[in-house]
Amino acid sequence: MTFLMRRYVERFGDYYGVTVYHLYPDQPMQEEFLGTGSISYQRRLVELLEREISWLSYQSRTLTLKEHLSSPKIRYRDTRYRLSLPARIFDDLLVCRLRSRFAIERVKALEDPRMEYERREGDVRFGERRRMELYFYAGEWVRIVGIPDAIINNVVIEFTITRQNIRHILGRAVIYAYMCMRENTGCATLIVPTTGGGDEVGYLVIPNSGFLEYLSNELAEVLKGEVEGLRNPFCKSCLYRNVCPYGL
Ligand code: SF4
Repeated sequence: MTFLMRRYVERFGDYYGVTVYHLYPDQPMQEEFLGTGSISYQRRLVELLEREISWLSYQSRTLTLKEHLSSPKIRYRDTRYRLSLPARIFDDLLVCRLRSRFAIERVKALEDPRMEYERREGDVRFGERRRMELYFYAGEWVRIVGIPDAIINNVVIEFTITRQNIRHILGRAVIYAYMCMRENTGCATLIVPTTGGGDEVGYLVIPNSGFLEYLSNELAEVLKGEVEGLRNPFCKSCLYRNVCPYGL
């Protein structure tokens, strides 16, 4: 049993993009695992992932082979840095630059930013959850710390309550995949909505070095302080809407 896959490229700026595969259940999978039953959707999802992890691992390795992965923006060895940020900063960055600026100031003010910020979404328990890190160049070296929901071999799994609109999670997903590549070859990140009711089971995000350029340029602008807000659908629920001139 395998998933059906549909590929698309999410574009960022004029030159960059990330390849994403929508994973759909085939008919037997739909009937056996995801049909209406008394067991919760989340439990069925975990059973499905356990059964399909070898196939996902194979796909991650094969699909990342087609991408250019090596990048001067990433280091794994000890590097001098001034700032340590949680990987979720990339979610804020892809929503709007001003939000990531606010988030950086907030992180600096917290005693243990990592645990407060890297919250778990949903209630799904699957695989191993551990802290990972890398150094990322954005005009200066920044230590990025992340706790993906699960890492199994070369597959990072991130659960989310979001379905359909996952664009703002792609930066973090790519960074998680690079964190995983410190120990494994050919890592990709599977974003899995924990809420039922959609057609797809998840989204397999394939990293590439070009997108790191984009993230690096964006974060560098924010660190330099040259930021503007951008009124967008996230403003309504934004943590900073009361202090943001665009949020009211
Ligand atoms: S309220 Fe909107 S414009 Fe302001 S920081 Fe939040 S997301 Fe950005």
